[in-house]
Amino acid sequence: MYKPTIGLEIHIQLATKSKMFCSCSTEFGDPPNTHVCPVCLGLPGALPVINKEAVKYGIKLAHALNMEINLTSTFYRKNYFYPDLPKGYQITQYSLPLGFNGFLEIPMEGKIKTIRIERGHIEEDSGKSIHIGDITESEYSFIDFNRSGVPLMEIVTYPDFESGDEAYEFLTLLRSIVRYLGVSSGDMEKGALRCDVNVSVSKNENKGTKVEIKNLNSFRSVKRAIDYEVERQINAIERGERIIRETRHFDEKEGTTKPMRVKEELNDYRYFPEPDLPPLVLDEEFVSEIKREIPELPHKKAIRYIETLGIQEDYARTIAYNKKYADYFENIVDNVGHPIEVANFFLVNILGLLNKRGKDIDSLTFGTNEFKELFHYLDSGLISTNIAKGVIEESIEKGLSVKEIVESKGLIQITDENQIRNVVIEVLKKNPTPVSQYLSGKKQVFGFLVGQTMKELKGKGKPELVNKILNEELSKLGQGDQL
Ligand SMILES: [Zn+2]
Repeated sequence: MYKPTIGLEIHIQLATKSKMFCSCSTEFGDPPNTHVCPVCLGLPGALPVINKEAVKYGIKLAHALNMEINLTSTFYRKNYFYPDLPKGYQITQYSLPLGFNGFLEIPMEGKIKTIRIERGHIEEDSGKSIHIGDITESEYSFIDFNRSGVPLMEIVTYPDFESGDEAYEFLTLLRSIVRYLGVSSGDMEKGALRCDVNVSVSKNENKGTKVEIKNLNSFRSVKRAIDYEVERQINAIERGERIIRETRHFDEKEGTTKPMRVKEELNDYRYFPEPDLPPLVLDEEFVSEIKREIPELPHKKAIRYIETLGIQEDYARTIAYNKKYADYFENIVDNVGHPIEVANFFLVNILGLLNKRGKDIDSLTFGTNEFKELFHYLDSGLISTNIAKGVIEESIEKGLSVKEIVESKGLIQITDENQIRNVVIEVLKKNPTPVSQYLSGKKQVFGFLVGQTMKELKGKGKPELVNKILNEELSKLGQGDQL
């Protein structure tokens, strides 16, 4: 049996207003090279200053991922040459990262799987190279330094993943966490969350050869790339080939990985301590204060929904992982109760309708008061759940109140037993043949009689009562009563 060993390296852009070591704006999408200064352009003599907010965000994230915090951590220069790195080095953390030794628990097939986290360190981003056409053929490239010096937190996991699905779950939860904490937008399409993958495959006690995959621009790509790469390596080993230690690129269209560059040895970055920055020394009180600011996180929320509110697992997670959904849901449940019904109405009817109309939850006007009215009708048996679903959708679409819809359309169920009984007796009189069929044992005509009764009641008879009274009247006939 082959065992895949997979680790992730995730770069998370911290949502500070200014860059890691200068006061330039981090705003995304502005014209190129408009947020630059001597520090982030790497001009000689410019001195970096640590962004306190970035450190705070880093500590928050480290806490949320159950990491220990180094009260003293250090910055290093990681030396390499690339046109988008004008200093010729990147300021990062090395032997003493901000956080280390953490973990995150992800739900996998009804069980909990623990993914250990090796470290989380803060660093600066490089600029962005924009190549014209194909990178290998383009005659020239552009460089945008707006991104140069933007703060990042790099999270390195242990190789605890065994499949693309596990990586997908992990990233989904991680993105939800950074959004809950407010430390990053987590938007992969804006480059605020980037993920590289290490994959190796081994048989028995042999150690596999690690292959790195880059250029993954969605969680789905991460999953597909991992699953493809595991297959590729197993097939290659089966053919007796040797796996080369290399960096591969994921081809989105073909769904395959292709060689990018061979990694013969670990790159020698000649790390050395950044002489322009003192060690980052944190006050214990500062750290624990940040810890206290951490809200209930999505995975804990989901467990609470499941265990104390009785919400089914997939529903609980869909609501809990999206902060806006969770805020909406909890507000309704706190004021109106009925968590299971609210979860169903919200996910199936409300979100279903919003999605269909391409609208955001922010535009939703169906709130606490509407649910209060709705449950007033439901709890007293005046309308059925099915009717309620229609009422919710109509209320959202037409902006009418629940009461207005229920009253104007006459949706209230008939619950008057005498009224229903009179109709039932009439129906039985009008249908002597089905009645005698029923009495001689052909029980399936019961449905026909229910239908006839409902028709007379214009569909508004309370189903439970119609069934009950029909049964009663039929059994009276069975005991010899005359029609
Ligand atoms: Zn700057």
